[in-house]
Amino acid sequence: MPGAAAGGLATLVVEKLRRHLGYARHRQGALSSMPKFADLHMHSTCSDGQRSPAEMVRAAAQVGLDAISLTDHDEVGGLDEAIAEGRACGVEVIPGIELSVIMDGRDIHLLGYFFDHHDLELRDFIRRFNECRLQRVHAMVRRLAELGAPLEVEAVLAKSTHGAIGRPHVAAALLEAGHVASVSEAFERFIGNDGPAYVAKYPFTPEEGVQLIHRLGGVTSLAHPGLYPDDGIVERFVTVGVDGLEIEHPKHTESQRSRFYRIAREHGLLVTGGSDCHGDRFGLQSLGGLKIPYARVEALRERAARVDTQS
Ligand SMILES: [Zn+2]
Ligand SMILES: [Zn+2]
Repeated sequence: MPGAAAGGLATLVVEKLRRHLGYARHRQGALSSMPKFADLHMHSTCSDGQRSPAEMVRAAAQVGLDAISLTDHDEVGGLDEAIAEGRACGVEVIPGIELSVIMDGRDIHLLGYFFDHHDLELRDFIRRFNECRLQRVHAMVRRLAELGAPLEVEAVLAKSTHGAIGRPHVAAALLEAGHVASVSEAFERFIGNDGPAYVAKYPFTPEEGVQLIHRLGGVTSLAHPGLYPDDGIVERFVTVGVDGLEIEHPKHTESQRSRFYRIAREHGLLVTGGSDCHGDRFGLQSLGGLKIPYARVEALRERAARVDTQS
């Protein structure tokens, strides 16, 4: 009977559809339970990386990363471009920064995540910070001229390959100009901490770094703690309220990692990690070469939601 045949066909179609939907649901379940990965440390041309923010995000999509954070040095200028590209190619881009703070005269790197990168206080801080590095060189050069050791600022700048210009470059220029016979003489006679041409660095402390990111609603992680001479630095950051430790970093040894995991457990710190990819310039592990489970990102997001912005 044609009616029965049609009915049979309808049943068959419905049955097929059901099976297909069941299969789709099953597949969806399989996809959502597939492990997701993130790389939370990388640099673009906005600081000392080789690729533009958008290129970094496209590269992240190609290597199958689900989430990344662009963490340029003392700079957030690439974040909007990266976030827009992330939307286009299905990669979650978390606002990030790698701040330079000073502890006992040493540069320490502090990562910030999930903060409001459009905040005017932050923009103002970044502008002042970048001006300060250059101003410090100009101030030292002025004092050196008064002391009878004139230098061209350009000669100092030529001694620096990228951003972080400072006293070693001034010393090298003094040596080249024949004002001193050695780098150590440059420090002893002119630019050592007690020298007549010494100018202090921009005094941005660990406390100020952590508090700045917290005020902007973000969380902090001490970058590559294994690259510093001792764990006193980790302890100092714990006392000023750092939220996490970047335990997963390509330059960390196995024994450092296990020590830092122990410290993180002791103090209830979150764990972050990433490739610290700069392109290929520094021979560091390339993008996605070091990735962390996405659950670490969720933990950061949850901590950021609870952060006290009044601190
Ligand atoms: Zn660093
Ligand atoms: Zn870095």
